[in-house]
Amino acid sequence: MYTWRETHIDLYKLCFKLNIRFIHSEVLEISANNKEIILKDRPKIKFDVLSINTGIQSSDKIIKGAHKYSIPVKPISKLSNNFLTEIEKCNNIAFIGGGPASVELALGLQKRFKNTNSNFKITIITGKNGLLNSFPNQTQKVAKKTLQNSQINVIEKVEVIEVQKDKLILSDKSKLKIDKSILSTNGMAPEWIKKSDIILNRNNFIIVNNKFQTNYDYVFAAGDIVDFNNQNLSKSGVYAVKSGKPLARSIRGFIQKKIPVSYKFNKNYLSIIGLSNGLAIATKYNFTFTSRFSFLLKKFIDKKFVKKFNDLNQDNNYIFKNLFKIFDVIIQNNKNIPSYQMQCRGCAAKVDFNSLKTTLSKEIITTSEDAININNYPKLYQSVDMISSIVSDPYIFGKIAANHAISDIVAVNSSLISALMILQLPYSNSEINSRDLEQVTSGANEILKLANCSIGGGHTMIGKDKDPVIGFSVIGEKKRVLQNKITPKVKVNDILILTEKIGSGIIFAGINNDIIDSYYQIEVINQMSKGNINFSKISEKLNILSMTDVTGFGLLNHLFNLIKRDSGKTGLTIYPDKVPIFNGVTEALSKNVRSSLFDKNFDVAQKELIYDREKKLIDEILYDPQTVGGLAFIIPKEEKVEQIKILRENKINFTEIGFVNNLNNKIKIM
Ligand SMILES: Cc1cc2nc3c(=O)[nH]c(=O)nc-3n(C[C@H](O)[C@H](O)[C@H](O)COP(=O)(O)OP(=O)(O)OC[C@H]3O[C@@H](n4cnc5c(N)ncnc54)[C@H](O)[C@@H]3O)c2cc1C
Repeated sequence: MYTWRETHIDLYKLCFKLNIRFIHSEVLEISANNKEIILKDRPKIKFDVLSINTGIQSSDKIIKGAHKYSIPVKPISKLSNNFLTEIEKCNNIAFIGGGPASVELALGLQKRFKNTNSNFKITIITGKNGLLNSFPNQTQKVAKKTLQNSQINVIEKVEVIEVQKDKLILSDKSKLKIDKSILSTNGMAPEWIKKSDIILNRNNFIIVNNKFQTNYDYVFAAGDIVDFNNQNLSKSGVYAVKSGKPLARSIRGFIQKKIPVSYKFNKNYLSIIGLSNGLAIATKYNFTFTSRFSFLLKKFIDKKFVKKFNDLNQDNNYIFKNLFKIFDVIIQNNKNIPSYQMQCRGCAAKVDFNSLKTTLSKEIITTSEDAININNYPKLYQSVDMISSIVSDPYIFGKIAANHAISDIVAVNSSLISALMILQLPYSNSEINSRDLEQVTSGANEILKLANCSIGGGHTMIGKDKDPVIGFSVIGEKKRVLQNKITPKVKVNDILILTEKIGSGIIFAGINNDIIDSYYQIEVINQMSKGNINFSKISEKLNILSMTDVTGFGLLNHLFNLIKRDSGKTGLTIYPDKVPIFNGVTEALSKNVRSSLFDKNFDVAQKELIYDREKKLIDEILYDPQTVGGLAFIIPKEEKVEQIKILRENKINFTEIGFVNNLNNKIKIM
């Protein structure tokens, strides 16, 4: 049995290592003529050369009820997530379709569940052409025998007409009682491609020539979604898998204006069907060979294929040797970038606290608010923020950078009234610069709009960084200026609240160093893109005595800052176990991941820290630098019930992480 990672290519990490921009979105339409890709929930992007590799989907619309009641095996990316948990609850499973995917999956499921559920029964309904119809007789015979030995029922020459919740209606008018059906029929081209101006065949697959080019020579396509106009190939995963290198060669040739080389597939490829009993059927040139060797060969091929894309730290890695060689145009830009160095970005790329302490005045460093009050304007607060790109997608980065700057204004309980952008773009031609500018500004403006503001102006420059660097100078207006000018003081036992989760620095350090899986970043990016604007809309209703946003210096140093602002001799007691953390943080900590600013944040905090217990690994989260972290604030103890009610009613994610003590600017860890 394969692990999740052995069956998935980590596309984010692949892109990160190869310095390829990664945009996590859904394509809705392609305008090849205008060189534009229309995406879901975000602005369209422009391209010069495009390769379409989006695969196929299950043909669940052809069989009545299949869309509603069947689990499709395609797209394969959606199959894995809840598939086994859903199947585990069932007794009667039916596979619709009699191809190799059905045979392999049915045998695999039977092996997995037969010992835990004695009522577990699988049926395969093959359709009119029977089981494994594109394979030689001997292959069919061995497969049928193996299915029979595993007590898997095969219904041949019959089609499924309709899928209902608890039964299948078959073409011979019979009914089959089921708990769940798995749709494994021939895949169909995705619906969205029909809206594009690319020529398709009558089944809506993209027609390409021998160089993988569509009717637009700068639009390439490969994999399950294509139909080669003159190669007469049946649909097979092998062609998709074999397309990578020739496709890359064709694209490279096109970019370099060389005469493109044609590619011809070998139709007599080796096909291996795993039987889940330690054997596999290998088929080539009408020969069939069932053996342990075939099984081991399949396992070797499968694992090697995925591993070469995932194991990017191997010196003689396939990708670095071949893909880099193929795209040597791109590699030229990468020569100065060390491959495995920890690259902490976002707010973790700031100058450390100690360096600031030695140059800036004590007041500015230790007791200042997150934004400064503009002289002679008691209601106005100003701040400036700048971050390097924590994500390679400029649109999302624009959102994150805007949220990061706005947080400073939110932290001083003010409404944003003005924002100027400072943008440094990598050296490139003016077309690329204007595309990046458009993406960054639309992301930023979307966020600013939520805060009833927009980019009022700013400054751009071209710099040496390979990614954009974005900054904002922001001005906010205090929502509530206290009439008596006396700042309310925090008191012992007042409550310390933290909104949102922390751990973004550790998560990105872990992912970018190939130590934890990249799916952990999704939650972090969602939080960074959401920011603290929702909180800002309700902060006026709360009685906040002191507040800070949590950014690059880590939660603990921001809390020190918070408590030092108070003129009383108070301190804080905090419970690191209660601090909400992103999924993946515990795993990363246990694997020794720390982000680059960690040590410096740690050193600064130690002097005024009191431990009331043994140190724990989770305490290290307190020093992790955050990009668009949440807000930490103190509310009066006597108002706790009402204040928490307001937070809950407004769906703010929050946690009580400690309370005020009398330890004179010290923080006690419990
Ligand atoms: C159960 C099963 C077993 C298989 N076993 C084998 C085997 O042993 N050997 C073999 O060679 N082949 C096998 N195949 C076939 C193989 O998986 C496919 O042929 C291959 O994955 C096709 O590659 P692809 O890149 O064209 O598409 P896919 O692998 O399907 O990848 C398409 C990608 O595009 C993304 N995408 C789709 N739509 C959009 C959109 N609108 N916007 C943005 N992104 C989008 C998807 O999320 C996905 O990441 C098997 C298939 C199944 C279902």
